[in-house]
Amino acid sequence: MHTPTHWQRLVGSVLPTDRRRRTIGSMALLALVLMAGSAGVMLMLADAGMTAHKEAVQWWAAISVGGLVVMTVMIFSGWSERLPDPSLTIVQMSWTITSGAVAYVLAGDARGVVPSVLAMILFFGTFGLSLAQVIGIGSYALFAFVVAVAAAARFNAASYTVVDTAYALMVLLVLAGSIALNLRIQSIRQRLGLQREALAQALAENRELAMRDELTGLLNRRAMLDLMLLEQRRSLRSGRPLLLALLDIDHFKPINDQHGHSTGDRALQAFTAAVRGSVRDTDVLARWGGEEFVLMLCDTRVDDGLELLDRVRGAVAQLQVLHVSETVRFTVSAGLAQHMPGETIEHTLDRADQALYTAKALGRNRVAVAPSPRPMGAATAHLRP
Ligand code: GH3
Ligand code: MG
Ligand code: MG
Repeated sequence: MHTPTHWQRLVGSVLPTDRRRRTIGSMALLALVLMAGSAGVMLMLADAGMTAHKEAVQWWAAISVGGLVVMTVMIFSGWSERLPDPSLTIVQMSWTITSGAVAYVLAGDARGVVPSVLAMILFFGTFGLSLAQVIGIGSYALFAFVVAVAAAARFNAASYTVVDTAYALMVLLVLAGSIALNLRIQSIRQRLGLQREALAQALAENRELAMRDELTGLLNRRAMLDLMLLEQRRSLRSGRPLLLALLDIDHFKPINDQHGHSTGDRALQAFTAAVRGSVRDTDVLARWGGEEFVLMLCDTRVDDGLELLDRVRGAVAQLQVLHVSETVRFTVSAGLAQHMPGETIEHTLDRADQALYTAKALGRNRVAVAPSPRPMGAATAHLRP
């Protein structure tokens, strides 16, 4: 078994358990750590006397980190779940961009560190945003830094150089880069989405194929067994009767022998259509194997089931399958059993099979009902010619 490492255990105890909230939470923590790091760098510069206003930098650091701490708490406590954007991405980014722009003014000669932090914020943030949001945030970043560059030029007039113009241009380039990156991510996402859709469709088709018999399009034995088990539980709960019938085409082998296998195949298809045309939509026909079929009748009493099977028998007897100039006709025999509480589906099918055997033995083209399993020993089948 997989045992979590100390690190995984620590992360597991801090982050929310829900996967989506866990992702949001870890991104918020990362943003907080990055902001704390940037604040640390700024404080270091202020301590070394590189910035013009040391106290202002300390205030700036406290407010910038404090703001993100508040947002992280909102996310971790689940409070942000009531908002349209529980991840607070836009709020976090706006806050960090504003903080960066202020840092640019306060950093004085050390302001060169700020554009690289801005690049990181924009590249990071774009992953969770739509293109419109990226353009919105990008425009805001551009505005904030134009103001910051102008303010820096004013407050630090003595040290304004062409380097400041270069920084402003770098901000522009970073914006263009993050928009291009976002476009790329969106197209990859779209392609992945389409691929996922195609995969899901192929999977559904495969599942459908695995459930169906190719020749008749009916449910196959395995799928029918699953369905019968489901209906068994339903019938047990509701107390409504569940009937199972085994149908077997009479003297089918001679049809194959005399008219060829493909005529036999067409006969099986015609048989399928005839049965489906004679039963209700809720009754399920499945190919059990060869020329043998199972019909499941839910919420049906034995008398009604017998009547329905008689109708099926009549419809099959009317069928005409053409082979060259000849007309092939055939009949069907059926054994009907009502599922009894306490017995297995296999047992009910066994009883239907015995009834089918009786119908065959008594001359075919008829329906026999299996006697109920209790009292033990009752053996005679009721017959319909
Ligand atoms: P009975 O009245 O006792 O049921 O006689 P039968 O000839 O119908 O029974 P038997 O079990 O001897 O023959 C079944 C035949 O069904 C033999 C087999 O070749 C044929 N069969 C099974 N599956 C298919 C199929 O998919 N297509 C065709 N054409 N024939 C099939
Ligand atoms: Mg047969
Ligand atoms: Mg058979």
